[in-house]
Amino acid sequence: MLAALVGSALAASPAAAQTPPAADQAEAAYRADPLGLIAWSELTRAYSAGADLFAVWSCDTPDADRVVDPFEAAQFFEDKAQPYFDWLSEGRYSPEFLTANTVAADDLDGCAEAVERFKTEPPANGAIIAMDTLTLEGLVANGTVIGAALFGAVPCGVAVVGGAEPEVLCQWPDNGRQIFLGAVAVVPVPGVTLVGRTLVHEIGHALRWPHSFHAPEGGSNEYDNLMDLMSGSRTIIGTPAVNRYAAGWLPPEQVAVHPAAAGDPHPGALYDLAPVGRPGRQMLVLPTGRPGVFYTFEARVKSGYDDAIPSEGVEAYLIDQSAAACDTPWMGACWGLDRRTLPLTLTGRSGDVVHVFDVGEDIVLDGVRVRVLEHASDGSGYSVWVGSGPLTGAFFDDDGSVHETAIDWLASTGITRGCDRYRFCPGDEVTRAQAAVFLARAAGLAPAAGSAAGFADVDPVAWYAGYLGALVDAGAVSAGPDGARYRPAEPITRAELAVMLARTLDLPPGEGPAFADVDPGTETAAAVSALAAAGVTRGCSAGPPLRFCPDDPVTRAQVASLLMRSPT
Ligand SMILES: [Zn+2]
Repeated sequence: MLAALVGSALAASPAAAQTPPAADQAEAAYRADPLGLIAWSELTRAYSAGADLFAVWSCDTPDADRVVDPFEAAQFFEDKAQPYFDWLSEGRYSPEFLTANTVAADDLDGCAEAVERFKTEPPANGAIIAMDTLTLEGLVANGTVIGAALFGAVPCGVAVVGGAEPEVLCQWPDNGRQIFLGAVAVVPVPGVTLVGRTLVHEIGHALRWPHSFHAPEGGSNEYDNLMDLMSGSRTIIGTPAVNRYAAGWLPPEQVAVHPAAAGDPHPGALYDLAPVGRPGRQMLVLPTGRPGVFYTFEARVKSGYDDAIPSEGVEAYLIDQSAAACDTPWMGACWGLDRRTLPLTLTGRSGDVVHVFDVGEDIVLDGVRVRVLEHASDGSGYSVWVGSGPLTGAFFDDDGSVHETAIDWLASTGITRGCDRYRFCPGDEVTRAQAAVFLARAAGLAPAAGSAAGFADVDPVAWYAGYLGALVDAGAVSAGPDGARYRPAEPITRAELAVMLARTLDLPPGEGPAFADVDPGTETAAAVSALAAAGVTRGCSAGPPLRFCPDDPVTRAQVASLLMRSPT
């Protein structure tokens, strides 16, 4: 399962003439990708759309452990790989396997040379060479390696940076796109479960997918992520969504990019994340502000081939394609197999699936918190919240507000459930219709059925009509004479709300203070004064003179505070 990189055609290719200046490379690398995420995406996507033809060879060596028939191998590959990639790509990619022939050679290098001699027959995008030895001894020092994908270290063609159509890399065999498999990965061997897995793993490399791993780069450390077919999994499962996006299988519209970079303040946003095969957003990107460096979040659930994943939840990765992240950056970026895919975890967690977060868990990245809020019971995925504020109370968009205590109280009473599942929208203006509902619920009034309360602009079946009717019945709102209008969609003013609230609470006329901007002798003045005496309002200024701002609109947060302070 080694991803070996051999050969370099850069110096001899036309790439040299078109190589942009070094300073521009870091940004140029991401230009062809619609979301600007994947380095040299035009090259990584060269083979990942539609049919991808591999010529299947077997190699007969003197050390044979098994007889490998190329026709049977091609059939076996088709049975194993086609349904898997059909699932993972949602029908966008299909590897195909053409039976080539058997060559004879002394060792693995000889096998590769023998296949080279027949390289143009049959025409294909790459070759799979199935060895008749159980492992790939001879290819690498470690004789237990059973699969390897080889590729030219750089494309032997070049993308036209910023051009309309990329001038795609050269074809097999000049690009060195070949997969070697030990016989143990080709013919069933009792007790060995890696048979199909090694093949699809190496095809992943042939699509330029890297390993994902926690530990420092190199050696067996690269196989410590049990959630990734390209790392430590022992069965055929999925791979990080960034690989599917890099292959072009995840359309940009199914990727959510958070509008603020990690480290920048943002009030917060809610994202529903769906797993492979489901409609909707399948990957959330949190930018870092650096080209090619970003965080990804995705939903993994036990369905399809992912039935075998060790842990369900939201998977988190740091993707780093900056030149510093790998040993062999090409044209300003770590691209393809060098793309660093680092599972993210919380301090203090350990194990192979520590980057999978469950409901209620969160991770803070440069001051931005990502919390898993919900797991949809129908298996459709997870909801996550991303924002820079602390997360306290019932809602995530009121943290730090002077009204937060009141808002949480309001939610606890059932008077409101917020403006969506997790937000209160504290700064939104309250309409006269919404005010009627707030007040009636706060007063414990049951909605009156089918009443327009005499208002010409109130539909008796409107969502607020029953509550408005209840307020009219309770004397908190005067019934409209025929033709009168309630103006339900208009923002309620502080004066209007004060009158309705004082009536709802049935406050006694008191010795409350007068406010300089409220006409004395009016019902508004009496209501505001009574509310002030009851401690419900202090006006809109520290005073003196006291001011009430009677014509100002009222926000949802202010209503929460008014209701919490109201005597019951
Ligand atoms: Zn590998």
